[in-house]
Amino acid sequence: MAGVDVEALQRWLRGFAASVAEQKDALTALDAAVGDADHGANMHRGMTAVLDSLGTPAADPAALLKQTGMVLIRSVGGASGPLYGTLFLRMAGATGGEGALEPETFAKALRAGVEGVVARGKAELGDKTMIDALAPALDALDASLGAGEPLPAALRAASTAADAGRDATTPMTARKGRASYLGERSAGHQDPGATSAALLVAAAATALGDQGTG
Ligand SMILES: [Mg+2]
Repeated sequence: MAGVDVEALQRWLRGFAASVAEQKDALTALDAAVGDADHGANMHRGMTAVLDSLGTPAADPAALLKQTGMVLIRSVGGASGPLYGTLFLRMAGATGGEGALEPETFAKALRAGVEGVVARGKAELGDKTMIDALAPALDALDASLGAGEPLPAALRAASTAADAGRDATTPMTARKGRASYLGERSAGHQDPGATSAALLVAAAATALGDQGTG
């Protein structure tokens, strides 16, 4: 197995950017129900800037992840820029300049990234945020890798778990972010951040799994 190299990570970022572009209006509609109707536009602006930045060659996965995090923090307004930016910056910090990440290293880096999001957003599981998609995805990824599954299968399991976590946000009452201002009226709406986070995991399953490092 070749591992997750710069090219594989670029496929992931391109795939996520394409999903965000496709789901931009849907993400904004979800945010219109519980927030300020800018999540689709914000994420689209950020991932367009990330696509532009891919023209700058990155020496290794850490450099690419760091560059991506900085671009997201610079270009995305609202809470999602700093949160997604933190995810990629912490992922970068959890890799040590390898040319290609072993599956376990990739999983560890992703966990470090999500822990960074938790620390920054102070959100826990069940608060109706992106953590509700990301935390179950990490657990599924680790469990599958721990059971000896190859990375593509483990990422498919992670994506399934992220989708279920996203769906589970619908009945929740928001306890973090702008949606929490609505209190119990936030229940009955799928969380926009959990929705984009599930797209991020699905993009990893496609880019690093199906056609990638299988
Ligand atoms: Mg918003």
